[in-house]
Amino acid sequence: TIVTDKSKVSPVNSKNRPFPLEWTRNIGIAAHIDAGKTTTSERILFYSGSVHKMGEVHEGTAVTDWMEQERERGITITAAAISCAWNASCGPWKGIKQRVNIIDTPGHVDFTAEVERSMRVLDGAVAVFCAVAGVQPQSETVWRQANKYGVPRVAFINKMDRTGADFFRAVSEMREKLGANAHPLFIPIGKEENFAGVVDLVQNIAYMFIDPADMDLNPTRHPIPAEYAAQAKEYREKLIEAASDFDDKLAEDYLNGEEITSDALMTAVRKATVSMKFTGVIPGSAFKKKGVQRLLDCVVNYLPSPIDVPPMKGQDSDGKEVEVVVDDNAKLAGLAFKLWTDPFVGKLVFYRVYTGTLQKGTSLYNPRTRRSERVSRLVLMRAMDREEIDAAYSGDICALVGVKEVITGDTLCNEDYDVRLEPPSFPEPVIAMS
Ligand code: GDP
Repeated sequence: TIVTDKSKVSPVNSKNRPFPLEWTRNIGIAAHIDAGKTTTSERILFYSGSVHKMGEVHEGTAVTDWMEQERERGITITAAAISCAWNASCGPWKGIKQRVNIIDTPGHVDFTAEVERSMRVLDGAVAVFCAVAGVQPQSETVWRQANKYGVPRVAFINKMDRTGADFFRAVSEMREKLGANAHPLFIPIGKEENFAGVVDLVQNIAYMFIDPADMDLNPTRHPIPAEYAAQAKEYREKLIEAASDFDDKLAEDYLNGEEITSDALMTAVRKATVSMKFTGVIPGSAFKKKGVQRLLDCVVNYLPSPIDVPPMKGQDSDGKEVEVVVDDNAKLAGLAFKLWTDPFVGKLVFYRVYTGTLQKGTSLYNPRTRRSERVSRLVLMRAMDREEIDAAYSGDICALVGVKEVITGDTLCNEDYDVRLEPPSFPEPVIAMS
């Protein structure tokens, strides 16, 4: 749902919300070990977590200082979920701050059950691959789990600066090994030590990394370099063709030889991505300022908000299947997805609200134990600090203080709404092979 005007949000939004449900992204970052998940996450947190919160751009040393400080504290991405904000530099939400909740998905193959559990709380994911190693065996496991749980993805081909990096080979491997309908949204300008920028195929412009001013939050847009013009045209056409399979209007316009606007193409790609039929691929390097901001733009522009995904399924007290539809004004139901001890706040339960509004001080019913416990405090975990909040709304992720008799995977709901949430059982999506 593309809503750019606060007054036009869906009625499921409560009047008290600080920002609309449509402006939320709950995403995970999934990767094979060593592909660069940690580095990419740190970069994402840097750009969306600290820069935006402080409302200004910090360049140069501030970046490293912050990262080092966080590393020392050792808490950056070990938290189960961190709330950030991102103003996309293009697309329908350009300049409108979106809430991006980064949910940690365990990367190690031994934690498959835990991966599956965390998949339940994601609406979308960034799949990180190494541009040198390509699609590795463990990526296949995570990919299949994301398919099973219906998690739409964008792919980030990381380490484009390394010797032997090959963006297009990685895209081919995604198709061959993962059966993904993978298509570049950007193509790299240069590679290895000369990886100097990207061409945005949707907008038909280039971003250059060599110009420091370029990687600001409002980057400069360059014309596509002449030597990349032909390749960019070829891949833009491929992208339009691929997106046309899921958008009749786009297909018709394309066949009639009409010019395809960036907006039309973006909308079609978004629709195809959200419906799990398509994966856009972005080249980058988590090192330095090479593409992670464009990745964040893609998170906002292509991955779904909580209102764009099918409703969570659950069972009522008689074991009858029910749908839990997102609505701030409905009774509360949510999922405890991780227990965690924060060095500053203490014992926490990470919780995703699926429907209703959770007020601080409420008693939450646990259908498994058939008991209720009072939530004494609600905490929003951010990259640099924690914020005490009074309420969490549908689609929000927060940390609960005070509830003790909880295990991962428990539903916590209003006392008069006895429901157990279960993983949505989506059919394997039909993959359109290219
Ligand atoms: P994880 O295991 O997926 O979390 O991977 P890490 O983020 O820990 O990265 C694995 C290794 O690759 C580390 O030595 C990183 O410094 C390095 N690395 C990560 N991103 C990049 C990149 O973009 N370029 C290069 N050259 N190295 C990277």
